[in-house]
Order: sequence, then structure tokens, then C-alpha cells
Amino acid sequence: MAKKIEAQFKRVLMGRLTYGRDLLEELTEICQAQDVHLGRLEAIGAVQSARIGFYDQRNQKYSFVTVEQPLEIISLIGSISLKDGKPFVHAHIALADAAGKTYGGHLAPGTVVFAGEFVLVQFDGPALVRSQDEQTGLQLW
Ligand code: ZN
Repeated sequence: MAKKIEAQFKRVLMGRLTYGRDLLEELTEICQAQDVHLGRLEAIGAVQSARIGFYDQRNQKYSFVTVEQPLEIISLIGSISLKDGKPFVHAHIALADAAGKTYGGHLAPGTVVFAGEFVLVQFDGPALVRSQDEQTGLQLW
């Protein structure tokens, strides 16, 4: 059975991402600076290069792909919860190249912003805390 909490809408923050910054690092910093520990994130824009992960379910390990070229952010969606007592961003991203070919996966450190717009929705509610899950090997709620 699914684990769940009930939360209420608190506020929305919208803004522009910084040229040359690490995308995941900047989103995490925004959440930490604004004390957002429960919420959702979305973003669009473009990156100079990307690093995305894929979780190997059998070996319970992430593998990473680096795409060293400009890409459009077709969609970034993520959640904010607590890990080790601090706001933690978990985001997935879909990207496209000049030919419209798409890349996608788990957003990893190493994705460099060209330009971007984010929408951060903060909720009020009980904490969702990540901890080690034996079955999947992941840090889950
Ligand atoms: Zn993920």
C-alpha cells in the first residue's frame, strides 16, 4: 500500500536560474535558503551540458550519461523533501537537441545552466523524510 501524507498549499516562488550554475545545486540552494522542505519543482529553459542518471535495478547502482552539448529543457519536474535533516531536491529532466532528439533521466550534479525559469511550490504538512529502503536500495520516503 502506498505511503502518503496530506499537505496544504503554502506559497509559490518563481524565478530565473543563473547562467553557468550547476542546475541541481542551484535548485537545492534555493530550497535551503527559502526553508522549503516539502514541495514540488518545475523548470524549463536550456543547459550548456547535462549529466543524467539511470538506476540499474538489478545491481542497485546509478549509472550516468554526460551529454556535452547545448540542450533544451523540455521538462524538469521534482519533489522536495528532507534527507539528513536538510531540504533535498529529487528531479527528473527531459532534454532535446537541435534535431529534436530527446535525452532524459534522473537529474545529477554536473548539468550546467544556460538559461532557465523555475516554479517552486511550497507545501505545509508533515515532513517526508528519506531513509534507506532495503528492497530497492534507494533513499525513499
Ligand atoms: Zn530519480
